[in-house]
Amino acid sequence: MPAFSGGDRAVHYACAVCADLQVSRLPVDPFALAQSAGITLVPFSSAMNAPGFFPEDLGHRLRMACAVTLTYPTFCIVYRDDLSGGGRLRFALAHELGHLFMNHYRDYPDRMFSGMSADSSLEEEADTFARNLLAPVPLVDVIRYNRPRQARAEVFGLSRRDWITRLDALEGDRAHVDENMANTLIWLFHDYLLGRRCSSCGHTFTFTGGEDVCPNCGAAVPDWDL
Ligand SMILES: [Zn+2]
Ligand SMILES: [Zn+2]
Repeated sequence: MPAFSGGDRAVHYACAVCADLQVSRLPVDPFALAQSAGITLVPFSSAMNAPGFFPEDLGHRLRMACAVTLTYPTFCIVYRDDLSGGGRLRFALAHELGHLFMNHYRDYPDRMFSGMSADSSLEEEADTFARNLLAPVPLVDVIRYNRPRQARAEVFGLSRRDWITRLDALEGDRAHVDENMANTLIWLFHDYLLGRRCSSCGHTFTFTGGEDVCPNCGAAVPDWDL
């Protein structure tokens, strides 16, 4: 594998994780990803039920971050399960998964365990991973081009703030996407991108071209109403 650095590395890892774990629809579910990668997620409310087991400053750290990775006494990600909406938590979990998938804890233990403020280049790399996992450039491009009305934060399960950041970083990230990666991602999400749900009868089907008409009841189907 060629050596990547910074954004290049993070964009490639995000694509590779989608391919390896067969992510195929939006919004990308970090809980399902963690489960298939064998990473334990612990809700903060149940961590509270094990006093003395988790670090004392856990609550404080979670106020700042929504999700934190612990390596002791067990390797896991503890997350805030009291948040509504889910967008902020989804991004925070994807960020922590980025640290793990890119082996930051293994390769840079001194920079991850300083106990003080985290290393900003590794944090930036984890953020790049997160936005490219949850909203990969080729998918954002395809949806924005074909269905501009649907290209919204909610489709990707992002908070408004993370969606705006995603759009701001789109061009920079696109520079790291090669044709092979774009094809891989479009293929993975092929059925999702062509999926339709009839608002009259609820039937779901794959759009195969021609008129957007429900094959079950014949009603005109609004563009991509999933
Ligand atoms: Zn981090
Ligand atoms: Zn129908």
